[in-house]
Amino acid sequence: MTTTETETTCDVCIVGAGPAGLTAGLFTARAGLETLIVNTGEPILRRNSHLENVPGFPAGVNSRLFLDMLVDQVERNGCGRLEAEVTEVTESGGERFAVATADERLIRSDYVICASWAESNYVAGIDEIGLMKRGSKTYIDVNEEGETGVDGLYAAGRLAGEPHQTVVAAGHGAKVALSVIHDSEVPFYNDWVAPEGYFTERGREVPPGCEEIDEEERQRREQQSMEVMQEYFDSSHPEMPTQHPSVREE
Ligand SMILES: Cc1cc2nc3c(=O)[nH]c(=O)nc-3n(C[C@H](O)[C@H](O)[C@H](O)COP(=O)(O)OP(=O)(O)OC[C@H]3O[C@@H](n4cnc5c(N)ncnc54)[C@H](O)[C@@H]3O)c2cc1C
Repeated sequence: MTTTETETTCDVCIVGAGPAGLTAGLFTARAGLETLIVNTGEPILRRNSHLENVPGFPAGVNSRLFLDMLVDQVERNGCGRLEAEVTEVTESGGERFAVATADERLIRSDYVICASWAESNYVAGIDEIGLMKRGSKTYIDVNEEGETGVDGLYAAGRLAGEPHQTVVAAGHGAKVALSVIHDSEVPFYNDWVAPEGYFTERGREVPPGCEEIDEEERQRREQQSMEVMQEYFDSSHPEMPTQHPSVREE
């Protein structure tokens, strides 16, 4: 990723840092694509009081803590983040897209994933994109792979019409990221970490995207994950859920 004072060039620009955008970034960054997630405002999940239906948390988890941990995870995996409002996405030569922000930055990228529930005005100027109005909300029309019909432009999560659930938005972000990885032609089989010998002792090369680790390295990673999680769960989260705007105004 190259960055000057006003411009950044990357492979993938993701608009929105909710469960969909963050999970998409986790996957594209881990596949070796230079990824920048641009976000303004707060993910709607911060309104939740206690998150009880995300797999892996038997007694539920504070949703703000869940988002903090997800942000930490994307950063540990090499994904860039920028706090800015995306105002316009246009198709341009070279890198396929120019993503403009309200503070006059420009991000040039080959792929854009829109994961910015509930805002899509910034793509309204692209003729070929399908915007669907349902009630007061606008969704971006995508196919099974999350493609919009504009080459290189995808949408993920609630904005792509997925059900209003965290794990579905996150899963869809991952699925759309895999479409981007496939279309980018970066060598990739699966994002798997396997025990030493899993492929190689069967006479196979470790496939691209996969990793074999030995027992010592497995124990090191497990220890690190235990320490990180103990720190996160050491005390309660300082922030309260955000109320619905109409309740806040009363
Ligand atoms: C009160 C409440 C409780 C909930 N409880 C649960 C629950 O218990 N379990 C469950 O599974 N789901 C729950 N949900 C639903 C869940 O939060 C959402 O379905 C999910 O978070 C959607 O994820 P997303 O990534 O698609 O969108 P979001 O999380 O909303 O992320 C979109 C991000 O894009 C940003 N953005 C928007 N426009 C721009 C722009 N122009 N430029 C840059 N950034 C932009 C937004 O500010 C936001 O940060 C709850 C929702 C609410 C409101």
